[in-house]
Formats: sequence, C-alpha cells, structure tokens
Amino acid sequence: MTELPSTAKAVIIGGGIIGCSTAYHLAKLGWTDTVLLERKKLTSGTTFHAAGLVGQLRSNANITQLLGYSVDLYNKIEEETGLGTGWKMNGGLRLACNEERWTEVKRQATTAHSFGLEMELLTPKEAQELWPLMDISDVIGAAFMPTDGQANPSDITQALAKGARMAGARIFEDTKVTDIEIENGKIRAVITEHGRIECEKVICCAGQWTRTFAKRFGVNVPLVPMEHQYMVTEPFEGVPSGLPTLRDPDRLTYYKEEVGGLVMGGYEPNPIPWAKDGIPQGFHYTLLDSNFDHFEQLMEQALGRVPALEHAGIKTLTNGPESFTPDGNFIIGEAPELRNFYVGAGFNAFGIAAGGGAGMALAEWVKNGEPPFDLWSADIRRFGRPHFDTDWVRTRTVEAYGKHYTMAWPHEEHDSGRPCRKSPLYDTLKSQGACFGEKLGWERPNWFADAARGETPKDVYSFGRQNWFDAVGREHKAAREAAVLYDQTSFAKFALKGPDAQAAMNWICANDVNKPVGSLIYTQMLNDKGGIECDLTVGRVAHDEFYIVTGTGYATHDFDWIRRNIPDGMNCQLFDITSSNAVLSLMGPKARGILAAVTRDDVSNDGFKFGTISTIGIAGCPVQALRVTYVGELGWELHLPVEYAQTVYAALMEAGKPHGLVNAGYRSIESLRLEKGYRAWGSDIGPDHTPFEAGLGWAVKLRKDIPFKGRAAAEAQKADGVKKMLACFTTDPGVVLLGRETIYRNGERVGWLTSGGYGHTVGKSIGYGYIRNPEGVDADYVLTGDYELEVATERVPCKVQLSPLYDPSMSRVKA
Ligand SMILES: Cc1cc2nc3c(=O)[nH]c(=O)nc-3n(C[C@H](O)[C@H](O)[C@H](O)COP(=O)(O)OP(=O)(O)OC[C@H]3O[C@@H](n4cnc5c(N)ncnc54)[C@H](O)[C@@H]3O)c2cc1C
Repeated sequence: MTELPSTAKAVIIGGGIIGCSTAYHLAKLGWTDTVLLERKKLTSGTTFHAAGLVGQLRSNANITQLLGYSVDLYNKIEEETGLGTGWKMNGGLRLACNEERWTEVKRQATTAHSFGLEMELLTPKEAQELWPLMDISDVIGAAFMPTDGQANPSDITQALAKGARMAGARIFEDTKVTDIEIENGKIRAVITEHGRIECEKVICCAGQWTRTFAKRFGVNVPLVPMEHQYMVTEPFEGVPSGLPTLRDPDRLTYYKEEVGGLVMGGYEPNPIPWAKDGIPQGFHYTLLDSNFDHFEQLMEQALGRVPALEHAGIKTLTNGPESFTPDGNFIIGEAPELRNFYVGAGFNAFGIAAGGGAGMALAEWVKNGEPPFDLWSADIRRFGRPHFDTDWVRTRTVEAYGKHYTMAWPHEEHDSGRPCRKSPLYDTLKSQGACFGEKLGWERPNWFADAARGETPKDVYSFGRQNWFDAVGREHKAAREAAVLYDQTSFAKFALKGPDAQAAMNWICANDVNKPVGSLIYTQMLNDKGGIECDLTVGRVAHDEFYIVTGTGYATHDFDWIRRNIPDGMNCQLFDITSSNAVLSLMGPKARGILAAVTRDDVSNDGFKFGTISTIGIAGCPVQALRVTYVGELGWELHLPVEYAQTVYAALMEAGKPHGLVNAGYRSIESLRLEKGYRAWGSDIGPDHTPFEAGLGWAVKLRKDIPFKGRAAAEAQKADGVKKMLACFTTDPGVVLLGRETIYRNGERVGWLTSGGYGHTVGKSIGYGYIRNPEGVDADYVLTGDYELEVATERVPCKVQLSPLYDPSMSRVKA
C-alpha cells in the first residue's frame, strides 16, 4: 500500500458513492490534495447492495436539480473513465390506482413541468405498452419521466473513484479513521489505523456509521439504519432490457429490470430498524438474513401487479441496512457544532440517485464555504433538540420510512414521537379544541375545533379543501374584525450581548439595526451573493444587547448563521433563550383595547409605536411586548417568562371576552399572511432569493454608508436590475393552490409557485411565485403579461399583482 500522506487539504471519510462522488468533484474543482479513506473496500458499506433505481423528481426544485445533475453525470462518466456503469436512461413510470393518487401524480407531473422536467401522463393502456408485464385492471393512470434511469451502484461508484484519481485525488482502502484531533475547537488532523493526516477539513460520508462517529465530536447527525429488502428474480420471458423502472406506490413497490429478470422492492408500513445497540464490528460486504415472512406483504402486492412473478425463480432476497432520516431527506452541509466538519449521509434509499449531485454540492460547499444553491430541505441545520435522542429519531424515522409510498397529503403532519416539546399552555389549548401540528418537536395549535358545531380536532386529509377550512375561516375573520390569540411559544429566541453586539449586528443584518434602545427591526441577513439566509425580527433591548426572534424551524440554522458571521475579534456572545420565554401573540383591530384592560402601561398608538419593543406589566408579569405583525393587523407579540404563561393567557382571555377574542392557530396565520403579502423563509424567500427579487429591497440599508455582509451583491443587483421577481397570483376560489404550480406568462413557462393557500377575506386562492426572465424583470414586465397557472396538469386563468391583496394601512413588519 502506498504510504499515507502526512497532510491533506481535505480528508473524506468513507468510500461509498457519496464519498467517491465528493472526492471526484473536489478534485475537479482543483482540490487535488484531497484524500479519501475507506475503512474496508470501496462500496463495501451500503452502496454495493443498492437496487440502482435513479429517479429525479422530488417536491423541492433544488433537490430535483441535484438529482438531474446525477443523471447528466451518469450519462458521461463511463466515457470519461472507461469503466462500465450499467447506466441506462430507460425512463421511469409511476402508477396511480385511485382518484386521490391520480391527483397526486398529476400534481407531481406539474411539479416536474415547473422544474423544467418532461413528465407525461399516460392512460393505463399506454403505460402497459411501456411495461407489458403488468396487470392494469386497477390502474387509472400513470406518469412517465423519460430521463429517469438505473445504474449498477458499485460500478458507478468505482467509475467516480477512478475519475477522482484521474483528477488527482488519492484514495486509500483498508484505512479506518479512528479519531479526529481537535484543538481549541479547530480540526487539526484525522487519525487512522495507519497514521495521522494533518488537515483542515473533514468530510464525513460514512453512511450508517456517521451518527455514532460524529457524536464523538459533538456533531449530531440524525439517521438510523433500517432494514430494506428487494428480491431479484431469475431471467424470465417478457422482460426487455430497456424496461423502464416502475413505481407502484399504491402497492408500495418498485421494479427495475436486471439481466433479463426483475428487481422488486418496496416500503412496508412496519419497517424494521436495525442495529439498535450499534453496528456490529466487521460489518462490510455484509447482508442481513433474508426475511421472507416480512417481505410477503410486498410480494402479495407485487403478484397482483406482475402475475408472471408467480412462476419466476427467485435468485435472491437482498436484505441490506440503509440510513434513513426522520423526514426522508438526506443530510448535507457543514456541522453547526464543529467548523470544517462536513457531512453527507442519510440517503433514505436514494443515495445512488442523489450521489452525483450530492457529491457536487458537498464539494462546492467545502471549497466555497456555501452550497451552490439553496439546499435547506437537506441542510444539516434543519434539525434541533429532539434529534439528539436516538430513540426519538428512530421512532420518527420508522414513520417516515412507512410513509415513503403513502399519499403525501397537503398539510400532512407526523404522528410519531408526539407530544414532544410542549408550551405551558398545551393542555389548556388542547382542552379548548386545539388541533396541533408539530415543528422541530414543538406542538403548535394549527386550528381550533368547535365542539358545538360537531367539529373534532383532527385533520382529515384530501387534495380538496380539508375539514379545518371553515374553522380556519372563522379564526381568520376574528383576526380581521376582532382579535385572536396565538400561542407562538415555539419561536426561536436568541440574545446577543456584549460591547460589540451592535457592531456585529450592523455587519450581519441587511437592515439598519443601529437604532435607539426600544426599537424593533425587521431584517434579513444576506450571504455574499445577496441571498436571504435569515429573515427575522431584532429588538434592541439595551445598548449592548439584542433580542432576536425567528421561526421555530430555523432555530439551529439562524443561530449558526449569526454566530459564524460575528466578525473575528468582536466581543459579544449569542445565547439561545428559546426555552425561557413563552410567546402569546395578540392580533386584530381590538388588540389595543384588550391589552389596555390588562396593563397600566401606555399602549396607545403614540405611547407604543409600531416597530418598538417595551416591557409592560400584566398580571404580575414583566412582559416584553413587541409591536409587530405577520398577519397584517394591529398587534403585539407578548414574550414572557414561561412560568407566567397560564396567568397571562387567562388575563388576556378574560379581558378579551367582550371584544370577541378567540384562540387561533398557525393555519390562519398562513391565510392572513398570504393576503398581506408577508414572505415566508424556506418557501418564498431563501438563500437563492435576494431582497430585491422578493420585493424586500426597502429593508436593505443601501442608502446608508454602512458596510454589511452581502452589500456588494445587493448594490450590484440594485444597479443592474433583477432577473426574477416575486409576484402574487389569485385564482378562482375553487382552485386549490398548494405551491409548485407552474406559472405561464403569455403561454411561456416562467416559474412556479413558492406558496399557495386561500385568503378568507378576499375569498380567493392565493399563490406567490417568481416570474423569471433572463433578459430582466421589472414591475412593468410582471404586470403586462397574461398569466395562467398549471394546476395538476390543467391550465387555469389567474391574476397577477405586486401589491398586497389586503392592507389595513399597517407598516410592513414580520413577526
Ligand atoms: C436494499 C437497498 C436498496 C437500495 N436501492 C436503491 C436504489 O434503487 N436507488 C438509490 O438511489 N439508492 C438505493 N439504495 C440506497 C443506497 O444504497 C445508499 O443511499 C447509498 O449507497 C449510500 O451511500 P453512502 O456513500 O452514503 O454510504 P456507504 O455506501 O455505506 O458508504 C459509507 C462508507 O464509509 C465507510 N466508513 C464508515 N466508517 C468509516 C471510518 N471510520 N473510516 C473509514 N471509512 C469508514 C464504510 O465502510 C462505507 O464503505 C438502496 C439501499 C439498500 C439498502
């Protein structure tokens, strides 16, 4: 064996498809001083036993783009390296066997069109022509994506490894990484069985070993191994080599051709977690025992679809462990807990499909310190407190696995691992009819059922208007006409404190936060491309202290962003104080009257101006009140020490009675904010969108001569103009908008909806989406076109506008 180098720029741990793809891309980016270390042999972990289907369509545009990149790479890697990969672009079929599934498939086809992929709808007969072996008696339609395909997982990984070597990376097998040397929080070296390699960056692509390995260095990677099985038949008649892959979600199964026979696997509702007490030593090129009893449920389903399987000889029933995650997406990015420690793991049985693109994204992330495009849905920072507990992770992952092929309902909530994080008001609100949703472990009221109307607090899912539609309509009306109280205790809250807090915030925030104590500022935080990394509210509570409030789901991400962007040498500390404060948001035109009845402090318009933060007394509690709104009405967010939550809630509800105050939940917030045009981070805005594209340029301090992160890009864009612009679309109320519907301008595809919902005041369906034009977009361009939306493959007329649909002449500030 060649001797290990003593230094390297980057060390990749793990020689599965993800590690090899990352090495390939890093070397191609010029990082030839990259070393990949594999404990045993390349592919010997999970990769060698994958089935090899390569599908592309996901619900997120950028993940779809990443999978599309894999396909492009697999189309050429064989020629580049001279190694066979078994890659065939034979297309992928997806079946629908009931009306709801057909709607889902049609919506997926529209999503594909939105993201620029071809996906056509077929009749059962047409589908059968592509896949003659199948029985179509229960099929009502199918969708076909011609650019999907299949590959031989080991071969494609070897080709990537060869490509990496050809580009200059070095790969060492039989070299286990035993430790990472960390000094004062900085990575110094990796320690292997055969020596030490000094390095700055470590990229952990250790598959199912990643969680345990990373935990030793304080890094949390929420994945668990699960058993996953597929059957391989002997060759039999009627299986052409060009047979497309087939997904039959109503029968929970998938298929591909393999040497004249079929591979058939699936996602059973009762999956079996593996290695709960740790992965056994020496587990390489190892499979688990075939579990025919457990597989029988899938076999029965498959026999109904492919009757010929009855007589096909079974070559093997492969049972291999694969890393699954609590939300079904993979995990990529730099760990928030340890600088320069990157992760690419947890591929939920689509690591071959994602391998090419994930390696590209990870390599760029390592080289540039940021991903090539927004990868929030796969970002390691999307996790939080509950994900530290492996049992919780496993429980939620079992659910996610079991739902792999079940209908992905709009607004669907997880069932498992709940309740987990509870506001002090949880039981009170539950007793009042709250139907809870969950985010980052937090239970949050989505809506309130009225028992007197025969409503029960349980979602009934469908692709039409769901059972909570009327209840949310009532809450929405109360917010517009009287007042509502939201329990928003789950908001992430940080304190930044220290002599340099103001200087640090001035650098990190795009808006001017150097305002007098008592000011409340809505701001974005931008990356160097001018993209929106965070969207939050900042209260200046002392000359050297800021109170920062952001969305529940962004706790880890935003904390990480702020902390890592505090300029070196500045003296200020960031604390996560989420758990110390409960939040009650009192919103609506009657909010002032209600607040005035419970406090002696001045809450008049002059005494408590919009965009300010002040401490007021309510029922013996010092309440930090933020005059702010995300629903477009007069209102206050009341932040209070948790032990006061019940007392203050009771006082407000009592005082609110004569004003018509009612409880309300997150689904009405969504309806209200859509009308008012407030943007949601993670859908309408994110790292790929700038304030000028999103209509938020007013919150960027370009007129002031203050340097801030992202300023150069923002300035350049302000001068040059934008190539996409967020607009508001409305349709007939009968059209259900969910997001991802395609936008057509004068018959040309120009984008897709980033949000969709219903506005109960305006009585219309509402969507937001970017209108794109490489030649440039301005308000004139937006407002002069004729627009249609494609919804579940059908075009519907719509109206476009840039101004809010509803505006009670409030200032624009987000909670
Ligand atoms: C039955 C089955 C069917 C599947 N079918 C498909 C499919 O059809 N399509 C698809 O896209 N995906 C499929 N997958 C998923 C796919 O196989 C995985 O997502 C993918 O192989 C994961 O690759 P990886 O590189 O993350 O992990 P691995 O291949 O497990 O690679 C990780 C490597 O890290 C090494 N390692 C661990 N610890 C250390 C250490 N300390 N030092 C050095 N090296 C270390 C391990 O030895 C291992 O080789 C399937 C999986 C299974 C189990």
